[in-house]
Amino acid sequence: TSAKRPKRITILGATGSIGESTLDLVGRNPDDYEVVALTGNKNVARLAELAVRHRAKLAVVADAGSYKDLLLALAGTGIEVAAGPKALLEAASRPADWIMAAIVGVAGLRPTLRAVRQGTAVALANKECLVSGGEIFMREVAAHGTTLLPVDSEHSAAKQAMTGTDLDRIECVCLTASGGPFRTWSAERMASAGPEQALKHPNWSMGAKVTIDSASLMNKGLELIEAHHLFTLPPEKLDVVVHPQSIVHCLVQMTDGAVLAQLSCPDMRTPIAYSLAWPERMHVPNERLDLAKLGSLTFETPDPERFPALRLAKEVLETGGSAGAVLNAANEVAVAAFLENRLGFLGIAGLVETTLADCADLTGLSPESAEDVYEIDEEARRRARDRLPRWAS
Ligand code: NAD
Ligand code: MG
Repeated sequence: TSAKRPKRITILGATGSIGESTLDLVGRNPDDYEVVALTGNKNVARLAELAVRHRAKLAVVADAGSYKDLLLALAGTGIEVAAGPKALLEAASRPADWIMAAIVGVAGLRPTLRAVRQGTAVALANKECLVSGGEIFMREVAAHGTTLLPVDSEHSAAKQAMTGTDLDRIECVCLTASGGPFRTWSAERMASAGPEQALKHPNWSMGAKVTIDSASLMNKGLELIEAHHLFTLPPEKLDVVVHPQSIVHCLVQMTDGAVLAQLSCPDMRTPIAYSLAWPERMHVPNERLDLAKLGSLTFETPDPERFPALRLAKEVLETGGSAGAVLNAANEVAVAAFLENRLGFLGIAGLVETTLADCADLTGLSPESAEDVYEIDEEARRRARDRLPRWAS
């Protein structure tokens, strides 16, 4: 592969869990890649370290106040430095062959859209982008002929299992959910769970937001909406099954009764590598699956009583339009409040449900641009914050 021109890559959210795993793969094959830009939010020290190690051309912090620190940290390295929201968009627009979108939350929508407009390849980890602005996002992907590569393990699995089959021959795409740390907990016990318990994911090591979403099963709800947009599948062709071992990532049921699944040990480097090497495959030296050693894989139906977030997301999937932006905004407010001990665990779904009910005037809209999405997002956040005290622990 060394005869090929190196792939020019950019990572939006380089200092996060997905960003770091991506750079782990890049660092193992340094001759295959040329790092154009790396971005972070505030973690200047780590961003500078990564930029130096991977010889990035540009390093950007989204937080404008961190500019001087980054400038200092990278002084004498020859690496270009910038900060603030405009610089983040500029980084996403720098010509690259492949851009990893791994910012967490709807904050990633604008930069990711910039990346999409390059018309090359975008590896999408940032599911909140699709939940909030799925229609406008997919319209831009189509308009620019961009290759959109799912990074979420279930969606990567779905893409792998669906390849070669016409969409109308697919009856159902079933996403697996680990069930999170509270899978077997009673509602009473969950009511008093704090961030410490919720952050203990049984199988995956991830950023805080997605870990809390996994505990509430909101993550699986967001992923249903993500799958709907990514694969243009109607809600009735999407399903969820709880699979505590996180070995089977997705099951695709065809019209002839065949089911194709993708299996691997739970390590995000496998789906990231699939997106990075696509349409080829690369070597990833992670743990290999040993089914005999595992002995058994189990599956169960998610409990809608204890995990109402999944039901709320399914309702939003049916509503469509701007409902996704409201759901996501309320959930981001709720998760942040939970992590700051200002909201109990059951209050997360509670706050999301009240906010959705209070935003009936917002959920029927059809956003035409990212600006529309952000307007709805901001209004929904305002209302969620207003209702926060009612749910506060
Ligand atoms: P993380 O919190 O570890 O990292 C997030 C990254 O985004 C960091 O680089 C951070 O500096 C940056 N960031 C945060 N807020 C920002 C802002 N306002 N503006 C600009 N940059 C900002 O999160 P993660 O676990 O790496 O997840 C990233 C995305 O990938 C999320 O959407 C998540 O749902 C999705 N995802 C993650 C995993 C996983 O295993 N971690 C799996 C599937 C999907
Ligand atoms: Mg996932």
